[in-house]
Amino acid sequence: MHTRPIWAEISRSRLAANYRALQFAAAPHADLLAVVKADAYGHGVTLCAPWLVEAGAQWLGVTSVEEGLLVRKHCPQAHILVLCGFWPGDEDALIEHALTPTVWTEQHIALLARAAERRKLTAQSVPVHLEIDTGMTRQGAALAELPEVLEQLRAASALRLDGVFTHFASPEILNSPQNDAQQARFAQALTMVKAAGLHPAWVHAGNSSTLLAQDRLPALASLAGALGAKFLVRPGLALYGYALPFVQQDGSVVRPLPVELQPVLSWKTRVAALRTVERGTAVGYGATYVAQKAMRLALLPVGYADGFHRGLSSLGRVLVRGQHAPILGRVSMDLTVVDVSAVADVAVSEEVMLIGEQTAASAAASPNAEKKNVHVSAEDHAHWAGTIAYEILCGISVRVPRVGAT
Ligand SMILES: *Cc1c(COP(=O)(O)O)cnc(C)c1O
Repeated sequence: MHTRPIWAEISRSRLAANYRALQFAAAPHADLLAVVKADAYGHGVTLCAPWLVEAGAQWLGVTSVEEGLLVRKHCPQAHILVLCGFWPGDEDALIEHALTPTVWTEQHIALLARAAERRKLTAQSVPVHLEIDTGMTRQGAALAELPEVLEQLRAASALRLDGVFTHFASPEILNSPQNDAQQARFAQALTMVKAAGLHPAWVHAGNSSTLLAQDRLPALASLAGALGAKFLVRPGLALYGYALPFVQQDGSVVRPLPVELQPVLSWKTRVAALRTVERGTAVGYGATYVAQKAMRLALLPVGYADGFHRGLSSLGRVLVRGQHAPILGRVSMDLTVVDVSAVADVAVSEEVMLIGEQTAASAAASPNAEKKNVHVSAEDHAHWAGTIAYEILCGISVRVPRVGAT
């Protein structure tokens, strides 16, 4: 039961519209692998994964076997790729629930080969995707390790190399020589795969930024084509309506996105209490804010334990009745105080938007007065908190129920 009024509304139509817009931007070179890891970037994977499948997604990407099992329950037909490898003990669940593991070490291959043998599986029945480390130096087989890994894969007759992929380190930097170098190494790796006599059905690379930048898609697709494979690009953040700005080598921001994306998540709460304070009144832990005049304050039942970033202290804003209400003093674990002095007629229980849009209350209450939207985005939170929208969205805690909306 949730009586504490804090929740996130997840828009089905916006998620579907973003998916379609991204699919259109990727065509004809790529299809999409929709990344739903980390509880669909905090949006609630049990809502989002089936909606993405409904919108046309054939492939979903998750972090772990645990996430994969949850998605499998809601998406019985989808291809589900476990992006971050797996651990000893995961093999049977992977095979039983048709989750496709990412592999890149000898241990991964040995564990799966043994599990397949135990289960008396026939040739080529366990699909795997091989990740190539082309320069990000995180996970994946480096080019130098590749011949051995490919040999081991060929020898493990129950396994089938269904996909090969890589991940770019700086996809939002345009014309980056590092991206070029990674792409060249990927091409080399794919040549080695072909020379080893392996025939993956899928080749994938790139994230939201790679897709939105578009310039690499034809070349990557033709690398896939040379192997007789289909090419996929793997957007995550953009599905949920956000994107990093593109920058040049020198860090300057370049051009607007080619696709209009709509934020899928609105984060809401309600005013818990109101009070008027005198000039000189200190607000919150550490008394970091002191009222410079008489003020009207609203208490909100949201704090950093909900994922409302403490970095928003005295910097961030929320929306009340279509107006911005600044956060005063420190965000505490469960509570935050905002200034509603400038907002007329605020009442206890009034809805407050932490992330989302409201229509500004028109000053002249005439029906013809132009309605203006005001908004606070996950990007704004990231800016105030000195982080990225990804972390803000994933950071909205389990204390905040995700509710499906139109
Ligand atoms: C998270 C992730 C993505 C999606 O990245 P976005 O920047 O959210 O689009 C794609 N590929 C891999 C391997 C990832 O881990």
